[in-house]
Amino acid sequence: MYWERITEEIYLFTSDRYALVNSTAILTKEGIVIIDALPFPDEAKQIARFLELRAPEGFHSIILTHHHVDHVYGLFAFPRHLEVISHELCRQILAETGEASLIEARKNSPVFDEVELRIPTISFDTGEMFLRAGEKTFRLFHLPGHTPDNIGVLYEEQQILFTGDAVMAIPIIADGNYEQELASLRRIKELAPETLVQGHGEVILRGEVQIVLDRYLRYLERMYKKAAGVFENGREREALWKIPLEDCGLERVPLGIASHQLHVANMMRVYDQLKAEQEGKTSEADTL
Ligand SMILES: [Zn+2]
Repeated sequence: MYWERITEEIYLFTSDRYALVNSTAILTKEGIVIIDALPFPDEAKQIARFLELRAPEGFHSIILTHHHVDHVYGLFAFPRHLEVISHELCRQILAETGEASLIEARKNSPVFDEVELRIPTISFDTGEMFLRAGEKTFRLFHLPGHTPDNIGVLYEEQQILFTGDAVMAIPIIADGNYEQELASLRRIKELAPETLVQGHGEVILRGEVQIVLDRYLRYLERMYKKAAGVFENGREREALWKIPLEDCGLERVPLGIASHQLHVANMMRVYDQLKAEQEGKTSEADTL
C-alpha cells in the first residue's frame, strides 16, 4: 500500500496488492470523511492508525461508492459508531449478498477472517444527497454503469470528484450496463471537475480530465461496436477473445489484473445483453 496527498487535507491510499484500488481520507474540522476502504485487513488497519495520529478530531463518517468487495471489506477497521453512507441499491445488495460472499472470500483466503461486514446505515435512492462536514460540502449522486449502485462524491469547494468505479483505467461494465456507463461518463464530462479521483489508479488532474473522459467514452463506443458486430454476424461469444483492447483505442494498463480479460468481460456483457434483448428478456433482471 502506498499513499500520497492530493491536497493539504486529502490523503489517497492505494493498494499495490489489488488492482490499484483507492481509499481516500478528507480531513475536516469535524473529523475525517472516508471514501471507500482497501480490501485487505492489514492495509485498512494501517490506514486507520495513520489517520488517528494525524487528526485529533477523529472520524466523521464513511462514504461507500458501491458494493464491490475491494472497496467494502476494509471498512471494518474504522470506528463502529460511524455512519456508512451509500446509494440505497448498495445497501440492499450488501444486506442481501454481503455475508454469503464474505464467507466465500474467507474460504479462498484466511486473510479475510477478521473482516466484519459493514452495511450502510444511511442511503439515498433518488436525487442527490448533501453531506456537510466542518467547512466542507460533499454532493453525492448516482453514477451507475459500472454497477447499478455506483455513486460519485463531489467535494464542492475544490471541485474534486471521487468517481468510485464510474471512472477507472479501463471502464468496466462486466457487472453493469453499457448505456448507463456512457451516460455517467457524459455527466462527469459536463460537470467538468478540476480533479478526478478514480476508483482504481492514478489521480486525473486538471487539463487531463476531459481528454481522459473522451478516451474512455471512445473506448466504450468502439468496444460496443465490436461486440455487437460479433453478435450480429451470428458468431459465438468466444470470438470476442480475439479482439484486442488496442483495437478499441486503449492501451493495456498496469492495473495488476489482466487488461485483456477485463476488456473481454465488457464485450461479453454487451453480447449477452444483445442476446437477451433479442430473446425478449430485459437484461436488467440479472444485474439487480
Ligand atoms: Zn467496482
